[in-house]
Formats: sequence, C-alpha cells, structure tokens
Amino acid sequence: MNFSAFHKLTYGLYVIATEIDGKKYGYIANTAFQITANPSKIAISCHKNNHSAQKIIDSKKFSISVLKKEVDTSLIGKFGFMSGADIDKFQGVETIVAKTGAPIVVDSSVAWFDCEVLDYSDVGSHLLIIAEVVDGDKLSDEEPLTYAYYHAKYKMLSPKNAPTYIDKDKLEDEPEPVIYEEVEEEKHEHTKSADGIYSCNICGFQYDPDEGDPSMGIPPGTPFEDVPDDWKCPLCNASKDDFTKV
Ligand code: FE
Repeated sequence: MNFSAFHKLTYGLYVIATEIDGKKYGYIANTAFQITANPSKIAISCHKNNHSAQKIIDSKKFSISVLKKEVDTSLIGKFGFMSGADIDKFQGVETIVAKTGAPIVVDSSVAWFDCEVLDYSDVGSHLLIIAEVVDGDKLSDEEPLTYAYYHAKYKMLSPKNAPTYIDKDKLEDEPEPVIYEEVEEEKHEHTKSADGIYSCNICGFQYDPDEGDPSMGIPPGTPFEDVPDDWKCPLCNASKDDFTKV
C-alpha cells in the first residue's frame, strides 16, 4: 500500500474541549466531520491515550472550535503538544460557554459547535465519538485552517496520537505531505537554505534562520547558534536544547 495516498485526504484543524467536575480539558484534532444534516450530527476520533477522551465520554459533551488559517501558533503548541498534567492549557485563552457547558475556545476560531455525545465506538487505538450538535455559531469570515496548509507552513509531522499519523518508514517514497500552491513558494525558500535549519524534537517545528522568530524578537537572518539560550519553541514551548540540526 502507498501510505502517501492518505495525504490526499483533506482536513481542518480544531480545538476539541470539554469540562467535568469544574475542570477543563482540550486538545487539537484534525478529525471532526459532519455525518448527518437533520438532526446535525458530528463525529470525532480521539486517541485513547489522550486525557480528554475519557473526559468526553464521562461528561457526554464537547465543543469543536474551528481554527482560522493564520492561527496563533501558541494555541497549537499548548493544545496540540503539551499535556494538561504539565500546564493549564486554558490559562490566558478566551472561552465562552453555550448549552452543554463545554468550554468553547474563541481565540483564533472562525466558528464553533457545541455537542452532546450520543454514542461512541472503540475502534482500536481511538474512540470514534458521535454527537448531536445542539448549538453553534460563525465568528468570522476568515478562512479556516486546513491540515495541509499547516503541514506546509510549519513543516510539521502529525503527533503520534493523531488518527492520521503515519510512520516515517512507510513514507520513504514520498516523505513530504501535500503542499498547496499558496505556500509552495515559501517551501522552496526553506529548501534553498536548509543548512541552518533546526528542528524541535518534540513538535517538529523548524527554526529557519532566514525567518528568525520575530514574535520573540529574533530578527530574520539570525543563525540558530545566536538565538538566546532562554528562547522557546513557538509551538510547544520546548527549550533551545530540544532542537536538532536538520
Ligand atoms: Fe516544539
């Protein structure tokens, strides 16, 4: 089987969140899809190792926040690559509550859905959770983030708990995920200057000296060696020591 065929399936990126016993739980997912129109039902696929999975089953509710194309990457870092056991993922994140009481992340979101769990199926590594949408709203006309755009822009691999994760050795013939035209030019620029690129061992973010990290005051043209020692990965907050030369 050619596993790179899976890269031709298209997805968005979402924050899935719930609340139980006064505590909030959330994670980043690319698998949320509408399965019926009337009534509106949605399914999500959640890894059993994900702390949120059992919390969603127990609370019988969750929200889906649809992230915008130019997402605040620190949101992805917090909800996608860090554990709720280590940090409070919701600290400093604006949320609202609708009918079910699940927290809805409105930072960097273009729409949201509030969902009541109807059923779930154990599909091996993941739980397939089916829910009825009881409320929802559009927050912005901005474009939603697609998984392919995110892959291409940040050159990241899927986290191991993602349903779409594929072992690298299965992709030897075609290691790169699908690149959409809109970011192709940027990709070529990275390829030209691959010498000085360093990759985060935790989330896969790549530091490109041509770009620096203006969000942290690192100007374009700064070699990785000259980045201050207290600099952190903009996606997952890992330290500089967690980076390896590509
Ligand atoms: Fe990282």
